[in-house]
Amino acid sequence: MTELSLPATRKRFDDDAYLTRCDATVVAVLPEGIVLDETVCYARSGGQAGDTGTMTLPDGTAIALAETVYAPGRAAVLHVPADPAAAALGGLAAGTRVTVAIDWSRRHRLMRLHTCLHLLGSLIPVPVTGCSISPDSARIDFDLPESTLDKTELGERLNALIAADSPVRVDRISRAELAAQPELVRTIGAAPPEGMESIRIIEIPGIDRQPCGGTHVARVGEIGPIAIGKIEKKSRTNRRIVVAFASAARAEDAPATAGQNPATRAAA
Ligand SMILES: [Zn+2]
Repeated sequence: MTELSLPATRKRFDDDAYLTRCDATVVAVLPEGIVLDETVCYARSGGQAGDTGTMTLPDGTAIALAETVYAPGRAAVLHVPADPAAAALGGLAAGTRVTVAIDWSRRHRLMRLHTCLHLLGSLIPVPVTGCSISPDSARIDFDLPESTLDKTELGERLNALIAADSPVRVDRISRAELAAQPELVRTIGAAPPEGMESIRIIEIPGIDRQPCGGTHVARVGEIGPIAIGKIEKKSRTNRRIVVAFASAARAEDAPATAGQNPATRAAA
């Protein structure tokens, strides 16, 4: 793949995590995936799983998307068809207009769990060494050689933060501003890439503020009740905490009810 020839994809999820579909123009059809000029599909990165969804052609034919990833260089987004031999792929060429839509129910679970990890990180003020977010559970690793964590107490504090329903704000700062506040980077080895001049900052006022490129809910109450799973020592510097939705039924919830958040607008 010739990364330099692929233009950057406009990532609509950066500005609106609740946008479930958009119209776009095909830029390239590659063996690795389809590149569009813009997309609502989050590309796997920062521990968060990539989106699944559908791409619909002008004649109404739908192509199932199994994964979204970055092309080398992290500028262009690759939409990976579930069936690389799908006949509908023959209808795509540079310039074709399509509609791309995400599996919103799955993405919303990812947004809830991702935001939950920000809250959990705020309760354990030590460096983060990694994280992984899938639709049904998430894990975060801390550099915490000696554990004094009490699972019950941690769960209660986490759910109290969720219930307080703080807003989640997206801000941008310059690289120079970030350099002046290196403590904002919580995850070891996950400073924003060189060359990125505008740094996206996620702030839960009074609770957490850090650079993050993921998708988050608009208010933390939308996460819903969370259960702490295992707390395990993976290595001297990795104490891993697993979280999941407290109720399987809750995990299948549709977006929040009318009038409470932008999901209603985007999902309508
Ligand atoms: Zn985040």
